[in-house]
Amino acid sequence: MKWTLALLLIPNLIFAQNKYGLTPMKLEPYRKSVVTNPQNELVNLEKFIPGIELSIGYATTNNFTGTKIYNLARAYSRRPVAEALKNIQADLKKQGLELKIFDGYRPYSATVMFYETYHDTTYVASPHRGSKHNRGCALDLTIIDSKTRKELEMPTGWDSFKKDAWPSTPVADPVVSKNRKKLIDIMEKNGFKVSTSEWWHFDFVGWQNFTVMDIDFEELEND
Ligand SMILES: [Zn+2]
Repeated sequence: MKWTLALLLIPNLIFAQNKYGLTPMKLEPYRKSVVTNPQNELVNLEKFIPGIELSIGYATTNNFTGTKIYNLARAYSRRPVAEALKNIQADLKKQGLELKIFDGYRPYSATVMFYETYHDTTYVASPHRGSKHNRGCALDLTIIDSKTRKELEMPTGWDSFKKDAWPSTPVADPVVSKNRKKLIDIMEKNGFKVSTSEWWHFDFVGWQNFTVMDIDFEELEND
C-alpha cells in the first residue's frame, strides 16, 4: 500500500508544476543539460570577463522591493550570452568605455517574489511565463567611463518604473540621448534586443532555446 502511494507521488515530486503552471529547472537537471549542450552553461561573468564592473542591485536593499533578494552579488549568463558580452566589452574598451552589470541570470523564485510584491507586469515578469532573466538570457546594464568608473548619464536610474525609462520616450538632453543610443546600438549589434519599457534591459535573441531555471547563486558557486 505504502509502495503504491510512493510510486504515485514520485512523478509529482520530480515534475511538480508550481502554482503558476511552470516547472523551473533545478540544479541536477541543469547539470545534465550542460553535458548534453555546453551552450546551456551559466557562466560567471566576473570570471569570464575579468575586471567587469558589477553593481547587483538585488544583492542590496537599493532596488524597487526595498529588500535584499540575493545573498551573493553575482552575475551569470548562458555561454553564448557571455561571449556576446565579452565582445561588447572589448569594443567599448577601445572607446575608453566599459560595461556595468546591474543584473543577469535571476533565479525564478526571485521573479515570483517580485510579482507577488508588485502585480503590474509592465515592469515585472509574469510568473506564468517567467522572465528572460530566469533563462540566463537577459541583462540589465549600462556603460561607464573606464577612467572615472562613472556611469554615462541616462534618462533614469536602473529599475525606474517611470515612462522616461522607456527607450521610445524622447530625451531633451542631446548627451543623454546619445548615451542611450550608444548603449542600445552596441547591444543590438551584438545579438540583443532592448526592452520596450526599460532602457537598461536587453534580451538575448534566441532566448527561446533556453529554459526557466530556479537555481540560486550559492548552488552555482559550489557546483
Ligand atoms: Zn531586466
